[in-house]
Amino acid sequence: MDHSANASGLLEGSNIGSQKERVVTEEEWLQKWEVGNIGFHKEQGHPLLQKYLDVLLNGKSGLRIFFPLCGKAVEMKWLADMGHSVVGVEVSEQALKEFFSEHSLPYCEEPVPEISGGKMFQSTSGNISLYCCSIYDLSSSIVGKFDGVWDRGALVAVNPCDRQRYASLMMNLMEKNSSYLLVTVSYDPNKHKGPPFYVPESEIKSLFGCGEQEGCLRTEEKTVSLQSSKRARRWT
Ligand code: SAH
Repeated sequence: MDHSANASGLLEGSNIGSQKERVVTEEEWLQKWEVGNIGFHKEQGHPLLQKYLDVLLNGKSGLRIFFPLCGKAVEMKWLADMGHSVVGVEVSEQALKEFFSEHSLPYCEEPVPEISGGKMFQSTSGNISLYCCSIYDLSSSIVGKFDGVWDRGALVAVNPCDRQRYASLMMNLMEKNSSYLLVTVSYDPNKHKGPPFYVPESEIKSLFGCGEQEGCLRTEEKTVSLQSSKRARRWT
């Protein structure tokens, strides 16, 4: 295990035992939405997406961008307005309906035959498709593959025991030469039970199989604040 200290002074790969067993159920997430306990939602969108937009898009237009565990992230609207096609997945139907209503976007709703109880909400213009189901119900045969992924509040929200499954699925959903922007949080995992969970850089490398590959994982930024540091990462 890697115990080297990173820029924020935390011990990479150590002391995460207290979060390892923690499980947040789908019902608990639905409950958070029902009672409005959604402090993770950022009305203004995320500054790191603005900052690293070029890294995600790589100068290309008309991309398919995936938002895992999307909530009602306003960045979906940003990218759709730029002419990209956006696909999200979220267990909370309330979150998806709030997304469309808060942006005054008309939408239609249809069942997803491959997923029991699954629904797809699609903007009438057709460029935003949001699946209401668990991300683990998806596969590339249902949603296709993506040129870009915006992972903010997704890997860090996944239960620690499901991380490998999540990472394998994400890699299956990516086209060759796609970019994956990941925002993580860094803090002492003994002081907060999560989510968001603390995912050490060493674990991210092993999850996404970046151990040996040159240039596979690049840490673009570590902004260290009092208790947390934000990181943006890119895979190509
Ligand atoms: N990415 C969003 C939301 C982050 S919070 C943002 O940046 O605002 C994590 C979200 O994942 C919650 O809305 C929760 O309801 C949803 N979620 C949790 N488990 C999920 C799962 N297995 N499949 C799909 N969505 C899930």
